[in-house]
Parts: sequence; C-alpha cells; structure tokens
Amino acid sequence: MTVVLPEIIDRTLCQKLDHDDPLAALRDRFDVDDDVIYLDGNSLGRVPRATRARVDELVGHEWARGLVRGWTESAWMDSPHRVGAKLALLLGAAEDEVLVTDSTSVCLFKLLGAALRAHPERPVILTEHDNFPTDLYVAGGVAALLDGREVCAVARSQLHDALDDRVCALLLTHVDFRTGEQHDMRALTSAAHDAGALTIWDLSHSAGAVWLDLRAAGADLATGCGYKYLNGGPGAPAYMFVARALQAELTNPIPGWLGHASPFTFEEAYRPAPGMRGWMTGSPPVLAIAALEQAVDILLAADMAQLAEKSARLTELFIRLSDARLARFGFELATPRDASRRGAQVSLRHHLGYPIVRALIAHNVIADFRDPDLCRFGLAPLYTRYVDVWDAVERIVDVMDGATYARPEYAERGYIT
Ligand SMILES: *Cc1c(COP(=O)(O)O)cnc(C)c1O
Repeated sequence: MTVVLPEIIDRTLCQKLDHDDPLAALRDRFDVDDDVIYLDGNSLGRVPRATRARVDELVGHEWARGLVRGWTESAWMDSPHRVGAKLALLLGAAEDEVLVTDSTSVCLFKLLGAALRAHPERPVILTEHDNFPTDLYVAGGVAALLDGREVCAVARSQLHDALDDRVCALLLTHVDFRTGEQHDMRALTSAAHDAGALTIWDLSHSAGAVWLDLRAAGADLATGCGYKYLNGGPGAPAYMFVARALQAELTNPIPGWLGHASPFTFEEAYRPAPGMRGWMTGSPPVLAIAALEQAVDILLAADMAQLAEKSARLTELFIRLSDARLARFGFELATPRDASRRGAQVSLRHHLGYPIVRALIAHNVIADFRDPDLCRFGLAPLYTRYVDVWDAVERIVDVMDGATYARPEYAERGYIT
C-alpha cells in the first residue's frame, strides 16, 4: 500500500482530509471530549455512545425485570456466537469460526493446549522474543504442563529458519505492540504449513485497525483483544477463531459445562459441543459482551478497506510531521515507513521518552510509553481525525521547546497509559 500525501502539509490540508474522509461521521458515534487528543486507542478504545444506553437497558430491563428468563428470552446464551459472527466479518472469517469468550490470555491457552495435544510428535511452540509478554508466559505455562514440550523464542529474522518438523505451532502477534510492525500473515502462514506447523495469530493490534483476511491467508487459529481498537470497554472479552477444517480435529483443553453438547442435562461425562460452541468453558460475561457488540456494530458500519487506508494515511501523516518537526529533538522512528508493514500506531524512540509522555498527558495529548524508550501514538482510524495528528505534533513541539518534560514531577516512574 502506498500512501500519497501532498508535498506541503499544513493544518488546512488536515482539515480538508477530514472533510473528505468517508469515515468521518463514525466519530460522532463515540463519546468524545474535544479538549483531549486521544492517541491511546491501541491500549483502551473510546466509549461508543450506544454502549451506555444498551448496558442500561440490559441491567434495568432484561436483568431487573426478566431475571433468569434473560438467558433465553434476551438471547444472553447466544451472545458469544452472535457477536462472534459479527466479528468474523472484520476478520475475514466465516460466521461459525469465531467465538467471543474469556480474555486473550485464556484463549491463547486454549488454542495452544489444543494444538499441542493434537500433535504429540511435534514438541515445540515457535515464537519471537519480542512477542507480547502474555503470549510468551502462556506458551511457557502450557508447555510446562505437557511432558517434553518447549517454547522456542527467536529473533524475528530467525523465524523462517526455525520452522522445522519439531514445530507444532507458530505463535505470533500480527502487529507488534511496541513498534507497530506488521508481519506478513500470508507468507508466514504458508511457510508454517510447508513445515507442517499450525499458526496461531494474536490479532490484538490488528482487528479494527488494519486489513485482515484470515481465510485468504490460510490462518488456522487466532485470538485477539476486545478493548483496544474494538472499543469493547475495559477488560472486554476476547475472541477466538478456529478454522472450520480444524474444529473437529482440535479440542478445547478447558472443557467446561457450557462447552458440553448438552449443558442442561448435567451429564457426568464430558461430550464436546460441535463447532465453536465446544470452545466455551463457563458462563459468558453477558454485560461485557453487550458493550462489545455496540462497538462492533460501529466497525461494521465502516468499510474495512477504507478503515485500513485511513490507518495508513493517519500514520503516514504522523511520520511525515515527525520527520519534519520532531527529529530535531532526538526522536527516532521505530515504526516501518512502508505502510503495508505497519499497523495503526507510530512509535518514536527517545531516551527521555517516559517524562516526555508524562508531560504530553499533562498537556492533554494522551499517548503511552513502553520500555525502554518508546513513545507510542495510537491512531485508531474510527475516531482519530487528521487535525488531531496535526495538533498533537504541535503540542509535542511545544512540550519539547518549552522543555516542560524536564520538570521533576514527570520523571517519577509509575503506571501510565
Ligand atoms: C493487549 C494484548 C493482549 C491482552 O490480553 P488479555 O488477556 O485480553 O488482557 C494480548 N496480546 C497482545 C498482543 C496484546 O497487545
């Protein structure tokens, strides 16, 4: 994907880009505070306006009046599948291949456990050192439960060479949470298949931000987070994808009553339900799924190709402005310049990144910091405007010029996002 922006960029151009943006109206579907420039939708997405009313209705009517009847009369029991089918449209999956459930970490456990159990002759989970820590921790935990299994974590450049006949699953995060670099899903999936391995893609920084087509890529298994670009709310449930061809071959390693073929006959022995129902474990978080559904409905109103193109243009704009105006302060670009190789974030390295991000937050530009020196700017395409990028860079320049970041209160370490 090549992104062409004019030679000269000014605020008027950014306003024009917003004016011409086919997705501009979708911003109005979020509860937006115009004083704050929010560039952290890659950590926690914004609140859809519809979410409040929906949660209110669910609590005040379906639950308060319907009581236990809500499970059937308000279709609570079906919600993991209904919202999974909607998400499938964003992922390029079939509607019976996606389930909303658990957290990403627990979904990873289930997928890895299923893959390892199905292929005892292949003892290795292959991943990269820089994968998101939860992926590494869960992989280590699953391997430790099964005799002779191990996690092999290599540098990104070594992945192809490390794919051999001992590898059961290649576990990768599609868009890197630190640098925003995007893997070539199709090429890596095909290399894994040539080696006889399955792929497990973590899509936490991809769905709702970049173009995805799991079927075209031949992906086997995937999971991802509901509270980042999907805007499902803090701690929103995750989703899980199991390609149809594998649904009968792999089995859920946490069999629970709601994954049973007949949960309400309370049988002593476990019999898995067919398809994605068999990947359920316990009761679905109905309130949280209702919130997620409102957010997914907004994404479904967007054209995915337009959304991916807007991510590419917003990040291109940020990179161009950063080259022109931020490089002189010592910021270095950590994100690929090739738009097809990045997600919807731009990361800049700076050895004083922590106090800089603290100072930016105090000046109402909400970004975040990741060790050791990365300032992350998430440009969620549903609600971030081109003028937001312009104004954010303007404020970064102000903070650096005024050296506000050098104030002692910004140097103090603590949790920030
Ligand atoms: C945010 C994130 C997660 C989140 O995991 P949860 O268990 O849902 O909190 C997982 N993987 C990656 C790559 C992430 O960025």
